[in-house]
Amino acid sequence: MRLVMMGPPGAGKGTQAQEISRRLDIPHISTGDMLRVAIRSGNEVGRKAKEYLEAGRLVPDEVVIELVKDRLSRRDCDEGFILDGFPRTVNQATALDEWLEGNGLRLDAVLDIEVPRDLLLERITGRRVCLFCGNTYHTVYNPPRVPEHCDGCSRELTQRLDDKEFAVRERLAAYDKQAAPLKEYYRRRGILREINGAQPIEQVGREIGKVLGRDWS
Ligand code: ADP
Ligand code: ADP
Ligand code: ZN
Repeated sequence: MRLVMMGPPGAGKGTQAQEISRRLDIPHISTGDMLRVAIRSGNEVGRKAKEYLEAGRLVPDEVVIELVKDRLSRRDCDEGFILDGFPRTVNQATALDEWLEGNGLRLDAVLDIEVPRDLLLERITGRRVCLFCGNTYHTVYNPPRVPEHCDGCSRELTQRLDDKEFAVRERLAAYDKQAAPLKEYYRRRGILREINGAQPIEQVGREIGKVLGRDWS
C-alpha cells in the first residue's frame, strides 16, 4: 500500500505511521526525521535545511523533493511505503504524482488526522523523542516504562528543539496556510480520508485500520 499521512504538527502522524509500518510491513518515511539526521551528519542537505528547521519554516521544495525521490527509489519501497510529513505543498504533491506515474504507480490513500488546536499544543510540549532509535513518547499520554528513558535502548529522552513554544506557533501557522489547498488537491482525486485524531492512540489506530479495510482491533 502507498500511503500519505497528513495533519498538523503534533496530530500523531509519526505515532500512527510507525504502527501502520509495523502492521503492513512497509517503510515509514518521515521527511522531518530524514532532515534531522541530515543536519546531525552535516551533509549538504543538512546544511541547506538547518536554518529552516530551527525557525519552524518549510525547507525549499526542491530540497525535500529530491530527498524523497531518492528514498522512494530504494528497493524496500517496492511493496509500498507510508510518507509522513511529505507532501506539505501542492508543488510537492504534484512532484510526487509525477514520480509515481512515471513508475506506473499511484497512492492508495491520504490519511488526514484532524485534531483541535488546543490539544496540539499539549501534545507537542509533552513530546519526548529518542535520538538513537527515533521512538516517540509523551510524558502523559504515552509515557516510557522508566520516566525520561527509551523503552527500546534505555537512553535518555530529549525534547526536540523546534518543540519550543515559538517554533510551534510558526509551524501551526505554516500548516494552516499550506494544508487547505493540499487537502483540496487530494479530495478532488477522491483519496482523502479524514481521521478523528482527538481520541486515544489505539482508537485512532483502529479507525485507520477500518478506513484501510483491515481489522486492527
Ligand atoms: P511536525 O510534524 O511536528 O511539524 P516534522 O518532523 O514533520 O514535524 O517536520 C519538522 C520540520 O522539518 C518542519 O518544520 C520543516 O522545517 C521540515 N520539513 C519536514 N518535512 C518537510 C516538507 N515536506 N517540506 C518542507 N519542510 C519540511
Ligand atoms: P506528529 O508526527 O503528527 O507531529 P507525533 O506522532 O509525534 O505527531 O505525536 C505528538 C505527541 O503526541 C507525541 O508525544 C505522541 O506520543 C503524542 N500522541 C500521539 N497520538 C496521540 C493521541 N491519539 N492521544 C494523545 N497523545 C498522542
Ligand atoms: Zn531509544
